[in-house]
Amino acid sequence: MSIIFDFDYTNTTNYGTAQNQYCASCNAIKTWELIKKSKYFTLFSIPILPQSTKYWHQCTECKQGDFLSKKEFDAHKNIADINTDFANGTISLDEKEAQLNAAFLALEKMNAEKKEQALSESYKWLSIVALKTDAELLAVLEKQNDYQLDFIIAVEVEVTKRRLNK
Ligand SMILES: [Zn+2]
Repeated sequence: MSIIFDFDYTNTTNYGTAQNQYCASCNAIKTWELIKKSKYFTLFSIPILPQSTKYWHQCTECKQGDFLSKKEFDAHKNIADINTDFANGTISLDEKEAQLNAAFLALEKMNAEKKEQALSESYKWLSIVALKTDAELLAVLEKQNDYQLDFIIAVEVEVTKRRLNK
């Protein structure tokens, strides 16, 4: 008898819609949904142990999205849960509004921290983006979703600098 381990099994859980936000590929404000993908060790095709978990949120319309940290995922999931509780009649409208206010405040604070972090990390890219042509920089700005925020900030700084020097 041979024991067959396999790593490919992926379990996808959709936690429903959380918030409305801008989608660059639709170029409009859209509803975003939360998804958790877990990879498992499998034994005879039966998932045994979670191997790795990825957190993702995506536009419900075009399915474009990006990865979230566990902390970001939890903040978004909190909002999705409040919406679900209200839809199920577990909480009143007043409770929903109070809970959503607190949840959105926490999310805003986290996003501000993330931006501050990216801003401080953008400095390491400044000497690199200075060597790029105007066309290369514009190409990056047109495909912002493909790059990290700290890199985008450095490109924006360089583009602004060139515009002012003309
Ligand atoms: Zn979209």
